[in-house]
Amino acid sequence: MNGAPPREVFESMDKHPFGIKPESWLVSAGRPSEPGAPLNVPLVPASNFIIGAGRDYSRDEGTPTWEALEEVVGGLELGRAVAFASGMAAIAAVFDQLQAGAVVALPDDCYQGVAGLVAAGAEKGRWTVQRVAVDDTAAWIRACGAADLVWLESPSNPLLTVADLEAVCAAPRKPGTIVAVDNTFATPLNQRPLDLGATVSMQSATKFIGGHSDLLAGVATTGDDALWHALLKSRELTGATPGTLEAFLAVRGARTLALRLERAQQTATLLAERLEAHPRVARVRFPGLPSHPTHAVARRVLRGFGTIISFDVDGGAELADAVCRNVRLIRHATSLGGVESTMERRAAIAGQGHLPPSLLRLSVGIEDADDLWADLDGAIRSAAA
Ligand SMILES: *Cc1c(COP(=O)(O)O)cnc(C)c1O
Repeated sequence: MNGAPPREVFESMDKHPFGIKPESWLVSAGRPSEPGAPLNVPLVPASNFIIGAGRDYSRDEGTPTWEALEEVVGGLELGRAVAFASGMAAIAAVFDQLQAGAVVALPDDCYQGVAGLVAAGAEKGRWTVQRVAVDDTAAWIRACGAADLVWLESPSNPLLTVADLEAVCAAPRKPGTIVAVDNTFATPLNQRPLDLGATVSMQSATKFIGGHSDLLAGVATTGDDALWHALLKSRELTGATPGTLEAFLAVRGARTLALRLERAQQTATLLAERLEAHPRVARVRFPGLPSHPTHAVARRVLRGFGTIISFDVDGGAELADAVCRNVRLIRHATSLGGVESTMERRAAIAGQGHLPPSLLRLSVGIEDADDLWADLDGAIRSAAA
């Protein structure tokens, strides 16, 4: 195991880069191959190794367990990956590449942690920030020619606006500009930013890759060798290393990513349609609905519409909070991408005051679709009664 498969292997393929489909890669990658080795990568809890083989200290050179996660995700994203302690650690490593005074383009709607990191850096004078509407393709294209880091997130959290990554990632750039995509919501099964020309794609493996809400991990993948080395160096110097158990669990979770995503995505489409017809629901945001403002872009750039639905109940924050209290099968919890469905009112989160107060973000899991609907519909009806 040594990172992603060689470049030629995937460049010769059209959509299925390793001669096998991504679904098969998820199951087969990151396994030892020596006779007698365990079929699954072992948990290797090691800080140091016997000197002589080039791997001395895990913070510097990694461990076999981290490498398995890097192979699985990197191969899927079509580049070389570096695994981190969390999604935020992976993001921070990308921002760590910027020179003082750099210009950052950031979406108007994005993960609040990224917005917080960028605001804190701007306050200290490390960079200046320009906010760009997720769907303003012309402004993103201009940013590619002017900014040092173009940070995209698509579909965006939590409004699920889809950026035209095809157009933006192909736009001419100022030399050295990094175009980075937070690919957490789409997963590399629905969207492959590096294939479209992005410099780096980032996953919070805490979400869909892990898939069971039992770990924190992040992965940054790039096709640029110099950047890959720089990201590794950043991990070494900041110590933002993944946990051994976390990397092991993330690999184990990734084995079933395709199945989980397929099932949850089907259910999400059904729930989005039913919510849209619900008398107490004012608005549903789901990229798969024809009513979604960026539905046409989503159809073009995404292979699937994902498992996240944001919807506004008709009755304000109080009604939305009551719905959260009433659900039983769906858990009232933050985060997303797990086998279990979770829901929360996003405007209740610090830094999310710009959102509609009654917006609920639902992460659809793999439970039975009718059971989920009965739970959701019942919770809305009893809250509104
Ligand atoms: C959760 C999340 C992150 C941050 O990942 P952590 O693993 O929590 O650090 C970044 N971006 C998006 C879109 C997320 O959902």
